[in-house]
Amino acid sequence: MTLRSTTAFVLRVDPISEKDVAVSFLTPDLGVVRGVVAGGRGKGRKGALLQLLTEVSVTFFVREGRDLARGDALEMKASAFALATRAETAMLLPYLAESLSTFLPEADAAPETYRLVRHVLDALGAGVPADLAARYFEVWLLLLAGLLADPGTCAGCGRPLAGEAVRLDPEEGAFVGPECGGRGGLPLSPTTLALLARLRRAPLGALAAERLAGPDDLRALEALAREIRRRFLGHELKSYRFLEALGPD
Ligand SMILES: [Zn+2]
Repeated sequence: MTLRSTTAFVLRVDPISEKDVAVSFLTPDLGVVRGVVAGGRGKGRKGALLQLLTEVSVTFFVREGRDLARGDALEMKASAFALATRAETAMLLPYLAESLSTFLPEADAAPETYRLVRHVLDALGAGVPADLAARYFEVWLLLLAGLLADPGTCAGCGRPLAGEAVRLDPEEGAFVGPECGGRGGLPLSPTTLALLARLRRAPLGALAAERLAGPDDLRALEALAREIRRRFLGHELKSYRFLEALGPD
C-alpha cells in the first residue's frame, strides 16, 4: 500500500453508496486521481469540502491492482464557495471542472495545469470578468494538452505569421496563412490573434487591466476552443451547453 499526501482540486463527485462518494481530484504531481471518500456524501464536514474546485489537502492510500485510491485526512485549503454562489461565476465552475476531467490523462503529473486552475480561480475571486477568465483557461488548457499549436507560425510552410488574418485548421489545431489555408477552417482576425498571443504571456489581472479583449475577439477565441474541442471529443461538454445557454448572447 502506498501513501501519498498532496493538495488537490475537486473535479467531480459521484455517490457510490449511502454514505460514500468516488471523487476525481486534480493533483499537481499525480495528475487526476480517482478516490473513494468514506462519509463524503451529504451535508457533513467532508461533504462541505467536496465542492467543485475547492482546493483541499488529502492523503491517498493506493493499493496495488485497485483502480480507486482511498482519499482520507481531507482538510480545506481554499474554498470555492464564494465563486459557486456568485451568478457570474457559478456556471463556470462545472465547466472548468468538466474540461479538466476530459482533457487531462489520468495519472500524468500536471503541475502547470494545477497552477492554471489556481490562477484562474484567484483571478475570478479578484473580480476579473468571467468571460475573459474562461477564454484564458480554454486557451491554456488546449496548449497544455498539446491540442493547440503556436499561432505565430504557419503550419503549412513554417513561415512566421504576424499581423494578418489566418485560419485555424481544427483537425490539426494549427494555424495557416492565406497561402496555405485553402478555404476551410476557422478565420481569425489580426486582433483576435494579438489577444491570443497576449493571453500566453500575461497573467489574468494584467489582461483585465489592459482591456485588450473586446467582445468580438473573446467570442472568436471561444469559437476556436469550441472547434478544437468538438473535433477532439466528437461531442460538446455538458457543462458548456449550460454556460452557452446562460451567456449574454
Ligand atoms: Zn504558409
